[in-house]
Amino acid sequence: MKAKIAIIGAGPAGLTAGYLLSKEEVDVIVLEADPVYVGGISRTATYKGFHFDIGGHRFFSKSKAVEDLWTEILPNDMLARPRSSRIFYGSKFFSYPLKPFEALLKLGIFKSVLCVLSWMKARLFPVRNPRNFEEWVSNQFGKRLFKTFFKSYTEKVWGMSCKEISADWAAQRIKGLSLGSAIKNALFPQRYNGDRTKVIKTLINSFRYPRRGPGMMWEACAEKMKALGGKLEMGCKVMRCSCDEVSGSWTVEYKNRQGDLRTIEAEHIISSAPMRELVCGLTPPVGERTKRAAESLKYRDFLTVMLILKDRHMFNDNWIYIHDPSVKVGRVQNFRSWSPEMVPDPDKVCYGLEYFC
Ligand SMILES: Cc1cc2nc3c(=O)[nH]c(=O)nc-3n(C[C@H](O)[C@H](O)[C@H](O)COP(=O)(O)OP(=O)(O)OC[C@H]3O[C@@H](n4cnc5c(N)ncnc54)[C@H](O)[C@@H]3O)c2cc1C
Repeated sequence: MKAKIAIIGAGPAGLTAGYLLSKEEVDVIVLEADPVYVGGISRTATYKGFHFDIGGHRFFSKSKAVEDLWTEILPNDMLARPRSSRIFYGSKFFSYPLKPFEALLKLGIFKSVLCVLSWMKARLFPVRNPRNFEEWVSNQFGKRLFKTFFKSYTEKVWGMSCKEISADWAAQRIKGLSLGSAIKNALFPQRYNGDRTKVIKTLINSFRYPRRGPGMMWEACAEKMKALGGKLEMGCKVMRCSCDEVSGSWTVEYKNRQGDLRTIEAEHIISSAPMRELVCGLTPPVGERTKRAAESLKYRDFLTVMLILKDRHMFNDNWIYIHDPSVKVGRVQNFRSWSPEMVPDPDKVCYGLEYFC
């Protein structure tokens, strides 16, 4: 088989590339390791008519081009959903984004005074050139609030101390957020004024979501790509990519559903496979330094346990962060709040208990 471009993976990246290239009449083939699902970790899994995400997936981008592309792929099935999320800490629920006055009230007078003093200390004597997540967040919120509302959840998700996570990542991840902006948001909730780039992502109070979960977007994207002539092969795991240094063309070796090794030729490759796996399967091989860097990349596993229960109207939030360090679960999703169509039975709820390991 031959294609102009071979794409590894039918997740959002691979399918978006496949669709946009097919629109330009470029000959593409997408090879996906999973035998059933497209969408990668943005897929929607189903069980007896219940739909659930691998983690809840909000559709919100600061880029208008990205938002427009989603509308083009799924013109009639994107819901605008209100966002509601809380933190569970110390047997109490706190709004997230944090509402500083509510947080201080619930923490009690003694802890609140300590939090305010610690924040004032951070403003007066900030860590110059913060190097890690802990220092960066403590500069914005004070050490006490960092310990209460950031430390345990972040460490559950990433499996490492906040001292080992770089400050750059914190700055990018919670860009624009500080105690000042949280207070401002509590008093005057941020409204969208047409300029997406000015929005603080973590504070958005609504987002778009496909009626039956994010997988719907990527299933539609795959269909659109195929309608334009793009090919999609499921159950094909790419094992090796070899470049002929003379002709510059690639041979992609993959294992099909039956476990047989097959090859295709391509002029170019776009890969969305994990970097660690891709780099080790390249010929000619990459340099020793690059190989070591790729091999040292760490990946986290994500387990979500679905609980289908009789609806006792426990909560309406989309999700709840479990900061409490005494339990391993990191977040609880409430799929009906993402979209009513995720749960087929009106008397039932479907919760997703998320574990990072
Ligand atoms: C808990 C959680 C919550 C998230 N929430 C959001 C959110 O709210 N909003 C948001 O926009 N994003 C969210 N994300 C991020 C989002 O899921 C990813 O950014 C997105 O799925 C990345 O897409 P991708 O195509 O690059 O990779 P992936 O989704 O990982 O897809 C890669 C695909 O490649 C396939 N593949 C891998 N190796 C091979 C191989 N060797 N051969 C063939 N196929 C291969 C895989 O099977 C997979 O289908 C969340 C992620 C997680 C984990």
